[in-house]
Amino acid sequence: MSFTIARTVEDALAAIAAGARPIAGGTDLVVGARHGKAALPADLVAIDRIAGLDDITAGSAGLTLGANASHHAIEHHPVVAGSYSALADGSALVGSPATRHVGTIGGNVMNASPAMDTGAGLVVLGAEVELRSLHGTRRVPISELWSGPGRTIAQPEELCVAVHLPQPAANSGSAYLRLEYRRAMEIAVVGAAANVTLAADGTVAAVQVALSAVGPTIVSVMGLDTLVGSSVADAAEAAAAAASAQATPISDVRASDRYRRHTVGVMARRAVETAARRAAGETIAIPVNRTLGIGAAS
Ligand SMILES: Cc1cc2nc3c(=O)[nH]c(=O)nc-3n(C[C@H](O)[C@H](O)[C@H](O)COP(=O)(O)OP(=O)(O)OC[C@H]3O[C@@H](n4cnc5c(N)ncnc54)[C@H](O)[C@@H]3O)c2cc1C
Repeated sequence: MSFTIARTVEDALAAIAAGARPIAGGTDLVVGARHGKAALPADLVAIDRIAGLDDITAGSAGLTLGANASHHAIEHHPVVAGSYSALADGSALVGSPATRHVGTIGGNVMNASPAMDTGAGLVVLGAEVELRSLHGTRRVPISELWSGPGRTIAQPEELCVAVHLPQPAANSGSAYLRLEYRRAMEIAVVGAAANVTLAADGTVAAVQVALSAVGPTIVSVMGLDTLVGSSVADAAEAAAAAASAQATPISDVRASDRYRRHTVGVMARRAVETAARRAAGETIAIPVNRTLGIGAAS
């Protein structure tokens, strides 16, 4: 049993290569262990004190989030909120203020819950995850990272060091919203993100939609390229139908599979409509759930 505090990425990689599990905010790992979900790993390496691993850098090539960037920092970063709004919408919904201050983007994506609130936004925004080990670095499209609930294709000795997002297209906007039964300390019953690019005549030039909590991993909705040239209203309806058709939800104590299949279509339609409003230049405050009164009442 060991607990190592890493001060550099190299320290962390050495500890991980020796069998330790990384812990960032601990809001999944420690809380899960306390709830009896999985025992705390015997060997841990704390990565939260690595200088610079929480940097958020925006430039002409796009956005880079250090793995330790917190949900609070993501939600309040002006470039993320303005140009990568679906991600800010997702981070703003995570847990409580305390959870958002210590919970990290690296922990959220590597924990691989299909109900995670940043995953659908990262998929529609075309994110890549940077994985590093003592043997080198590779970048993986985020839609290929998750292999099942709680599982990723990362090797045990790989650390997520960053999440990269490309520069958004001109005249594009994005949104993530979720169905929830209460306003805080809740996970999505279902959720949907959309990224919409508008042509000069106001029709849809491109649309991507991804779904949370309706499959073993985040679901990328396929076949939406046929919607190019459609009105936003038609694209939103078609995306809703495709989302409901492609979802493979389960029934559990929180919702039936039938209810989830229906409501994820509703969320997808609203996500497309909201993303298109943002693409047209409208400012809709983060998170759209609260601004538009979607989900639990206040
Ligand atoms: C009360 C509460 C409410 C919550 N509400 C929500 C919610 O609404 N929406 C939501 O999406 N989540 C929610 N969560 C889950 C959690 O807060 C998030 O998933 C958070 O982003 C996890 O980050 P962390 O840094 O705490 O991860 P940790 O618990 O430190 O780690 C999680 C997992 O990822 C691994 N890991 C962490 N960092 C790295 C890395 N850099 N490279 C490789 N592996 C890594 C760890 O080994 C572990 O397996 C909630 C949690 C709590 C306790």
